[in-house]
Amino acid sequence: MAAQMIREWSGIQQFPSATQTKLHELFSKLKQENVDTLTILVMGKGGVGKSSTVNSLIGERAVNVSAFQSETPRPVMVSRFRSGFTLNIIDTPGIVEAGYVNDQAIAIIKSFLKANLLNKTIDVLLYVDRLDQYRVDNLDRQVVRAITDSFGKEIWRRGLIVLTHAQLSPPDGLSYDDFISRRSEAMLKVVRMGAKIRKQDNQGSQIPVVLVENSGRCNKNDLEEKILPNGIPWIPNLLGSVTDVVLNGSKSILVDKKLIEGPNPNERGKLYIPLILAFQYFFVVKQIKGWIKDDIAQEIKPSWA
Ligand code: GDP
Ligand code: MG
Repeated sequence: MAAQMIREWSGIQQFPSATQTKLHELFSKLKQENVDTLTILVMGKGGVGKSSTVNSLIGERAVNVSAFQSETPRPVMVSRFRSGFTLNIIDTPGIVEAGYVNDQAIAIIKSFLKANLLNKTIDVLLYVDRLDQYRVDNLDRQVVRAITDSFGKEIWRRGLIVLTHAQLSPPDGLSYDDFISRRSEAMLKVVRMGAKIRKQDNQGSQIPVVLVENSGRCNKNDLEEKILPNGIPWIPNLLGSVTDVVLNGSKSILVDKKLIEGPNPNERGKLYIPLILAFQYFFVVKQIKGWIKDDIAQEIKPSWA
């Protein structure tokens, strides 16, 4: 499976200097907190812009992007190194195919993590969807549920919701900001439901929602930075939110045996052994003893006895 060599992060030089300066500030902020490696796991349905977002962040065409199905058949880890700082981004296949959550895809992601990141950490989850969708449905909830079941609820403390296709004109005369807040609220609700986070837990409301526009036609500001319709340069903004999540005091996700294999079914089974033995004694052994006793009683005794 394709884990690439750690390469010098030359793509960063593709960014306008204003963006480069901001990124370097973020890296030194992380290094001050003793974070010199960031591993970001990117997940979501197929075709939502996961691979494009990876390429936008790296500033290179590092992974394949496709407008049609079955984009990334296997996970790919892109690793880049720059002034003492290592960025690993894991692009993954969509976990929904043909309208169903594909458990196989999750299993493939896990075996990739086992092969490439054992005893290391996932620092951030980017959960990607599109901004220009007006509805969330049961399937969205199932995707979140599947991620939660495989990686634990805690992964959402390290999660960001990333919405692509952010350069849009909102429908129904809504302002851009209103549209964003409605779509964000709908996404957060689905994540809370799928991850079984209660609304009172402030964990749910803490998940940041960040916007991305991967298109080559993304508008730019005077400094040549790609901006959202509200004027925010989105690349430094996304990496800024990633930095905030990393420094929010929660634990990163350790890729260990327990995470890969899930709760051991044998261990779980062991709990039932005393119960099964008791059941056998009372219902099976006693019953058989009874039958034997009856048999003995009914036995026709030979005349000499
Ligand atoms: P993935 O399946 O989630 O990895 O999605 P891809 O990154 O392969 O993107 C699927 C299609 O959507 C491709 O044709 C991309 O060019 C397009 N796409 C991805 N992100 C954006 C975006 O932010 N804006 C626009 N306009 N198109 C995008
Ligand atoms: Mg892809």
